[in-house]
Amino acid sequence: MPFKDKEKARKYNTQYKKGWVERNRKRWNKYIRDWYEKNRDSEIDRKKKYYWSNREKEIVRVMEGNKRRYRRLRLQAIEHYGNKCECCNENQPEFLQFDHRHGHGTGALDRRIQKGKGSGIRLYRRIIGGERGTLRLLCANCHFAITQYGECPHHPRGDDPRPVHREEPSPNRDHS
Ligand SMILES: [Zn+2]
Ligand SMILES: [Zn+2]
Repeated sequence: MPFKDKEKARKYNTQYKKGWVERNRKRWNKYIRDWYEKNRDSEIDRKKKYYWSNREKEIVRVMEGNKRRYRRLRLQAIEHYGNKCECCNENQPEFLQFDHRHGHGTGALDRRIQKGKGSGIRLYRRIIGGERGTLRLLCANCHFAITQYGECPHHPRGDDPRPVHREEPSPNRDHS
């Protein structure tokens, strides 16, 4: 297709290539694999050189990627636990935390948490994978009040919302 506008032609070509790759995913993957096999040594060399001459930029890039991945998993894990504080219904994800210390559960997830293996990305992955311990979701305020004073002012006189032990993953599993 002739384009007068070079910019348009470029766009058309990238669109076309993307479409082709999607339609021929297997062929494309094999092509990339074979190409990499043939060029392995020079590629490793090239990447090393690139890394060392762009080191600071690369470190930032990797860290940003980790942060994005961490936040995405955190949001998904929060969603599995109903998206809101079990004490006050706060539903702003930035304010929500997993309360570990409340339960004395015996499930596999709880045992891992007690061994200190259950935090951050690993914990989120296990939650997203459908594991349930006696964790519960609290907002930072309620979490703080409960760990410091044993109860939250929202529920005085020991009317403490008990941890919900969910056997089934929450039905709300729409991850976007
Ligand atoms: Zn709360
Ligand atoms: Zn509260």
